[in-house]
Order: sequence, then structure tokens, then C-alpha cells
Amino acid sequence: MRIPASDLVLLTASAIRKSFGGVEVLHGVDLHLARGEILALLGENGAGKSTLVKILAGDYSADSGTVRIGETEYSDLNPRKSRALGIRMIFQELSDAPLLTVAENISMGTWSSKRGIVSWSKMRERANFALSTLGIDIDPDRLVGTLRIGERQLVEIARAISDNAKILILDEPTAALSSAETDKLFLVLNALRERGVGMIYITHRLDEVGIISDRVQVLRDGTQSLVVETKKASRVELVRAMIGGEIASLPHSDSDDYFGDTILAVSELSLDKFFSDISFTLRAGEILALYGKIGSGAEELGEAIFGLHPERTGIVKLNTQTFKPKSPIDAIGAFIGFLPADRQRLGAFMIRPVAENLAVPSWPRYSVKGFITKKKEEIAYLHWSELLKIRSRNDPDQLIATLSGGNQQKVLLGRWFECNAKVLVLIEPTRGVDVGARRDIYHTLRQRAKDNNIGILLTTSDHEEVTQVADRVVVMSRGKQVAEYKGKEINNSQIIQAAS
Ligand code: ADP
Ligand code: MG
Repeated sequence: MRIPASDLVLLTASAIRKSFGGVEVLHGVDLHLARGEILALLGENGAGKSTLVKILAGDYSADSGTVRIGETEYSDLNPRKSRALGIRMIFQELSDAPLLTVAENISMGTWSSKRGIVSWSKMRERANFALSTLGIDIDPDRLVGTLRIGERQLVEIARAISDNAKILILDEPTAALSSAETDKLFLVLNALRERGVGMIYITHRLDEVGIISDRVQVLRDGTQSLVVETKKASRVELVRAMIGGEIASLPHSDSDDYFGDTILAVSELSLDKFFSDISFTLRAGEILALYGKIGSGAEELGEAIFGLHPERTGIVKLNTQTFKPKSPIDAIGAFIGFLPADRQRLGAFMIRPVAENLAVPSWPRYSVKGFITKKKEEIAYLHWSELLKIRSRNDPDQLIATLSGGNQQKVLLGRWFECNAKVLVLIEPTRGVDVGARRDIYHTLRQRAKDNNIGILLTTSDHEEVTQVADRVVVMSRGKQVAEYKGKEINNSQIIQAAS
């Protein structure tokens, strides 16, 4: 692999090892970063990405290995040393001061003061300079607590830069951002690249890698499985490096014969302020995506079919019968299953066992003389756990809160398979789900749709999700349906364009 000329190298980490409680999670990892470079650090949950960058930031000390910055090699970084060397981490949990202004936040820790007196005008000047060089349009006099999360992140970046950061580490910065905020962040990162700042950008979203990075390093189980220039990296190669295997290519079908009867027919469905005049059909065995940016109305449309917005107007037919649920209870009674956007709040009973979470809607079927046999729950859980590849202790009593996001989602999906739902409405089913679990979920959806004649309606703002799993897509924008594609007609650029 080509190593950049030495005067361009900002940082070289060599053979970094780290254990927690006797378990080694980094097995001798190298990493280098050049001036003006964005290195994407990719990997599934638990691969060791955060641990590696925390070592660079001095938050954790490595068990062995060295970090070379400039001419000096360090084996004992701490937060103060790392900071003095120009390394800054932009945290997921923001570390700003919400009750201070933007200008104060940017100057925090490096106040411009004369004999202990803070110069407000200098401070504002400095903040303005940092913000404008990065092209960030935020009023320096606003209180940080009144900003949106994406704006707060930008302020944190401005603060790092105004304090002469040379290396910026961003750990999944877009996890909580809207797509507009993400675009804004990318503009700022590009401006930083121009100024020679080196960045380590952690993500598990492959689409971001191509957009923002110059080079990609993939970690798998604590070892580096790939380091490659972004323009030479194929998607398949990246996924393989992350999960250590092939993604089974899923069969899509354009042939109308492939699917069964129409099970859901929606006509002229409207919900004030969210969507209007939406019409489509869904057939047994078919996966239909409603794709749109956040705010397109797709999410609320999915919710309305599950009975969450009874004030909606228009007609929904379920197996040719008019269906007007007053609440989700009616929908569940009609064999409609649902995954909400916020599974922690609306989907899972976080402090209950996994088996119970999976079995709840099937209780009526399990009950014998009004008693639910726990044994049936356990059998059901172990069955779906194997089919859906749920990674857990394999203990039906384990609390669902202790599983990773992707595995929680699998439990909630298994719930609807177990109670024989005929239509599934899935809102952003793989948001915050890592690549491996995502692959398992897509695979199961395909298989169950086909083998059990289930109709699946999913709403998503992730175009990759559409191309990977949908048989057909209805594109939505500002509450209207604007395009429809099926089978081989579906491609990323087309649907993105249609949605904007
Ligand atoms: P990633 O950021 O790639 O998802 P992490 O670096 O957070 O991965 O985690 C790597 C491994 O180290 C995981 O198995 C995780 O459970 C473990 N780990 C991370 N931090 C700690 C910690 N403070 N104590 C114990 N184990 C940890
Ligand atoms: Mg992490």
C-alpha cells in the first residue's frame, strides 16, 4: 500500500492492541492519516472503531503499540496531550454548553482575554471568522441549546478549528442527522479538507463513504480487513470486508405472475399536513417501498395503514374489504404487523424478556383456559432466534434492552411472523441497524414474503434499502406520490432524483 510522503503524514498508529477485562478487542491495528485527507473507518458494531479512535484521542490507553505524530512517537497519550497535539473528537453525545452562546462555545477553553477580562467583541469576531471560513451560517449570538443537533455539531467543529485542530475524529456523526443536515456537514468537512485538516470519519453507512472519503479502512473483529482508496473500492468488496462473506443477491422480480392476489389497495388516501391523494396496491408476496426524504409523508402513510391516524380520509381495502381501523388494535386483529420508527418508545417492552417481546401478539393463540404457557413463548423465541440469526445469549429470559439495535429489530420482526401477520408495515426497518443484521433482515423479508405470501410495505429514506429489497417503489415528495418503478427499473440515481 502507498504511504503518503512523510511531510504529508499527520498521524501513524502502529500495532495497536487493546483488551477490556482480559478480552482483546484490537489485535494490532495500524492506521495512518495524511494532511487534507478524509479516512472513512468502517466496520460492523463491535468491530473496534470507537476503541481505536479513543486511543488516538487519549481517552483509552493502548496495551501496546505506538502513535506517531509529527516527529515524535507516543505510547502514553492522554486527553490533554492529544488535544495539545491538535487531535479533536466530535462526540456523538455533544459536549457543548447549551446555555452559552455559539460565540462563547467556540471560544470556550481558549477565551480571548486581556488581564483576565473577556473581550466579547474579540470573541464574537473569532467565532464569526471560524464560522464563515467553514461556510456555516449560524448566528453567533444564539444560545447553543436552541440549535438543532446538526447545527450543534457544526459549532463543535468550528470550536475545534478555532483552537487549531489538525486532526478531527467524527464517530458516526450523521446517526442523528436529517439528510439536509448531513449535506451541510459534508460541505463543512470538504472546507476543512481544503485547509489541510485530516479527518477520521466513522460510519456504518456505505453510501456516505463514496461521497465524503478519500480512503477507507475497514475493521472486522478488531483487525483491519481492508485499506483502500475510495475510488478503487467496490461496494461488494467493502461489505465483504465488513462482514467477512458475500451478501446473497436477492431475487427481484418484474414479472406480475410472480406475486399473488392484491391484499392491500389504497385509494386517494390523505392526512392533513402529511400526505394527500395517495393510491397504490400491494400484492401477496410483494415488497413495496414507499421512498422519500424525511418529511415526505411516507412514514405517516405507513402509520395510517396501521390505524395510527384514524382521521385520515380515502379508502383502504384489505383483501377487497374496506378497512378503517380506529386504532392499531383493529389493525393487529386484521393480521397487520408493524415496526415503528422508534422501536424503543413504541415497539419493544425494553425491560421485558426477549421471548415475551416476541410472543405478545400471539398470546391469544397460546392461551389454554386463559393461561399463557411460558413454554410456548420459549419455543417460539428459539425458533425465530435461529431463523433470524438473533445474536444473543440464546436465553429466552434475556431482557431485550441488552441486545444491540439490529437484534432488537429482529425480535420485533419475529413477533409478526410468529402471529402469522399477512401484511407487514415497516417504518425505516433498518435505521440504526448494522450491515450484518441488515443483510439478515432483508434476507428474511424476501424469504417470508415469497414463501408465506405476505405483503410487505416498507417506508424508508434510505435509497440503498430500496434497491436492495424492494420489488417496487413508490417515490414520495412533500406528501405527494411522484414516481413509481418496479423490478429492474429501480436504481439509486433515478429514485433520488424523483424524490428531490
Ligand atoms: P465499534 O465502535 O466498532 O462498534 P467498539 O470499539 O465500541 O466497537 O467495541 C469493540 C469491542 O470492545 C466490543 O466488543 C465492545 O463490547 C468492547 N468494548 C468497548 N468499550 C468497552 C469498555 N469500556 N469496556 C468493556 N468492553 C468494551
Ligand atoms: Mg462505536
